[in-house]
Formats: sequence, structure tokens, C-alpha cells
Amino acid sequence: MLGSRSIERAGPSGEPTSRFPGSYYAATIGPAIDAPALHNDATSDHCIIGGGYTGLGAALALARAGQRVTLVEAGPIGWGASGRNGGQVHLGWERDLTSLAAKLGHATAAALWQTALAARDHLDTLLALDPDRCDFRPGLIHADHKPGAVAATHAHVAMMRDTWDYDSLIALDRAQLGAMLNSPAYHGGSFDSRGGHLHPLKLAQAMARAAQAAGAVLHAQTLCTALRPVADGWRVTTPHGTVTAGKVLDATGAYARALVPQTDAHVLPINNYIATTVPLGADRAQDLIRNQAAVSDARFVVYYFRVTPDHRLLFGGGETYGYRMPRDIGAFVRPHMLRVFPQLADVPIDHAWGGTLAISPNRLPFVIEPRPGLYAANGYSGLGVALAPWLGDAVGRAMAGEPNPGYELVRRLPAPRFPGGALLRWPTQALAMRFMALRDLI
Ligand SMILES: Cc1cc2nc3c(=O)[nH]c(=O)nc-3n(C[C@H](O)[C@H](O)[C@H](O)COP(=O)(O)OP(=O)(O)OC[C@H]3O[C@@H](n4cnc5c(N)ncnc54)[C@H](O)[C@@H]3O)c2cc1C
Repeated sequence: MLGSRSIERAGPSGEPTSRFPGSYYAATIGPAIDAPALHNDATSDHCIIGGGYTGLGAALALARAGQRVTLVEAGPIGWGASGRNGGQVHLGWERDLTSLAAKLGHATAAALWQTALAARDHLDTLLALDPDRCDFRPGLIHADHKPGAVAATHAHVAMMRDTWDYDSLIALDRAQLGAMLNSPAYHGGSFDSRGGHLHPLKLAQAMARAAQAAGAVLHAQTLCTALRPVADGWRVTTPHGTVTAGKVLDATGAYARALVPQTDAHVLPINNYIATTVPLGADRAQDLIRNQAAVSDARFVVYYFRVTPDHRLLFGGGETYGYRMPRDIGAFVRPHMLRVFPQLADVPIDHAWGGTLAISPNRLPFVIEPRPGLYAANGYSGLGVALAPWLGDAVGRAMAGEPNPGYELVRRLPAPRFPGGALLRWPTQALAMRFMALRDLI
């Protein structure tokens, strides 16, 4: 039953929501946006729970559609995955189009590809909201750490060109990759000029400012502790006030904790870690990734990295499947970083943080309507930078009653639950993930 259990904190790891984690992003955004906590009983057409890309995308769409919308966020705006992620902009879905076509049919795969292109275009419109364009830089390298994987990557490039008319992706042999990336760890790969990287917290803040400017009411430091159906919609209870709204969107990502139990069974929260080095200086940083692209590799527990505008290496690597994060995240990430860049052995790390992302069983995002007037969108499976703002926008427009093919497409996708449901997904799936992660070591 919704709301029967009261929520005391956001997130599986129990991190404090009173401030951002100690990330490079939090240190480089300047003043956080002004979104005072809720201290009264309010009514609204719509209430969004969660101030990440999904919730902010929906709030922006609803406000632009002239609807009254109130958003509550447990921490500062962008506190969750949206303010901590690797900032890598991928075009597409976590599963390639060949396997999507095999499972869902060619027509659905084609619609998903068009949607991925639309999500990427939508991201460009959001970058334009920020004076720094959220520090966006173009280019994404896929790097293969096993020599035997390069042929499959090149076949994928050919398939994208020949079947899907996508010619922004090119194949890289070892020498071509080496000209871009100064690491002994890789054997070849591909380069996507439509990919890129950005400052994820600047993106969240830019979306929040635009939503406020369009009329949305945002409340940071406002944990939803219970959600109950009432005669005229839903009541969202928070420590110092309530919001009564006709429609509610659960946009709590991997930080949901039994708020809408029907959603929990569809996602597995996974902790993933990032560290930044101290500034390396322009020349040393340029020598690591010579074309300034983002890089992500082929590991099951992917390594992803890029150089920041102030010439640090920002490196993501390592996962844990459980409630606790490592005590010393910098020490946890460092060996992964040195496997890729042994030349950085003398370089200290100065920011390190973890975040929790939501994976779904089929690695596709989903929208569900578990009860009338209650929506949930989640499960980006590590590819939310382009997809979550877009899906948030699509759900927001659907909540406003606007016909919306993107929303209908995602709503019709299969949205399986993890075996064992909300309670037993952890032990069974975490064991399976650990097994898959071991294959990276072979
Ligand atoms: C370490 C890491 C690296 C990643 N790297 C990339 C990448 O490079 N590229 C990419 O495309 N994707 C990446 N992702 C995934 C991407 O960040 C997510 O898919 C995306 O941010 C999800 O957005 P969201 O709005 O659904 O969730 P979130 O951004 O997590 O937002 C959910 C919000 O809900 C709030 N909340 C939870 N419960 C409550 C409650 N009861 N009351 C009020 N508020 C509540 C939380 O505080 C949180 O801020 C990464 C994720 C992580 C964690």
C-alpha cells in the first residue's frame, strides 16, 4: 500500500541530503539555485518527487504547458545521479539496435533510434539554457580493452552506417586510437562525433532555472515521507508541509526507497564511483586525451573518463552492489585509473565521490502508471544524461495531456521486474552482477 511506510531518507547509501557530495561538480557550479524547502500546505495540478533530470525535465515541460507544477527534492536540486554522473553523452540505448530489433521487432528498434536522435537534439536545446553550455565538448571514444573485441566494434560501426544511415561513428584501429588516447590499455575502438561530455550538475541547475522561469515551484531539502491517494488526486507529505496534486510523478531514480513499491521491483540500484586528479596543467592533460573527447570502454563495469576544462582527469571506475560505499573512494578508484594511465602514478586525487544509478532488467528505461494519476519514469541503466531529460519532458507533456509519440513508445516497451521483486532483487541480481564483473579481469 502506498504511503503505509514512512520514508526517512533518500537513497540506498544513506548519505546526508543536507549538502551535495564532495564532488568536483559541486565545487565548480558557483551558487546553487534558490529553491527553499516547503513549509506550508500547497495545492498544485502536478507534483514531481525528485529533482534530477527526469523530474526537472517534467517540471519544465509542465510549466511551459501552462500547468501548475510543484517539485520536491530531498537534497539540493541535482543531488542524486544527475548531479554526480560521468557527464558522458551517449547517443542511443544501453542495448544495440540489432539486439533491440531481434527482441522488439525492426519497427520498434527504428522508432527507438529516431527517439535516441530526438533525445540528443533535445539535449542541445537544454545546453543552450546555460551561459557555459554546461561545459559541453563534442566527441566520444569507445575503447576496447581486449584485442578480440575490436572486430565486433568495427562491425557495429558498419551496421550503424549501412542499416541505420548513421555516419557520425567511425572505426579506429590501434594506431588511430593511439593518436587520440595516450593509454597502453586499449587495442582499437570507435569515435562518435555526436557524443560528448558535459558538466552534469550545471545541466541540472540550468534545467531547474528554466523550470522556475517558466513558473514551476521547486522545493529543495524537502523529502517526501509519504504518498497517499486522496479524493482529488494525491497527497505528498514532507516534514513541514504537504502538496496535494491531481497527478504525481515518481522521479526518484535509484534513490527511491519504498516510496512507490511497484517501481522498486523494476530497478536495481548500483553504486558507481568517480575521482578527479588535481589540475594537471594544459599540456599534461592534453597529452592524455589528445582530441579532448570523452572515453568509455568495453568493460562490463565500464571505465569512463575525460579531461575537465580546468585540466583534471575525471575518471569513473568500480562499482559496488550493496548499501555501503567504500570509506575512501579515492583509494578505491585510483587503481582503476592507473590501469589506464600508469603515467599518473605521481598525481594526487582531490575529489572522489559515489553515486547510485538505476538499472532495469532489460537495460531500457520505462514509464509506468501504477495507479491512476501516478506516474513513474526510471531505469536509464547508466545512459541518463541524454535520455532522462528527454523522457522527463515526454512524461511531463503526457501529464499535461499533450499527444506525445515518444511517451507512448516508451510506455509500450516491456518493463519487466527483477526476479524476487523489490525485496529479493538485491541478493540474486547483485550476485549475477558480481559474476559478470569478474569477466573484466580475464
Ligand atoms: C556515478 C554515476 C555515473 C554516471 N555516468 C553517466 C554518464 O556518464 N552518462 C550517462 O548518460 N549517464 C550516467 N549516469 C546515469 C545518469 O546519471 C542517470 O541515469 C540520471 O541522472 C537519472 O536521472 P533521474 O532524474 O532519473 O535520477 P536522479 O538524478 O538520481 O534524481 C532522483 C532524485 O530523487 C530524489 N529523491 C529520492 N527520494 C526522494 C524522496 N522521497 N523525496 C524527495 N526526493 C527524493 C533524490 O534526492 C534525487 O536527487 C551515471 C550515474 C551515476 C550514479
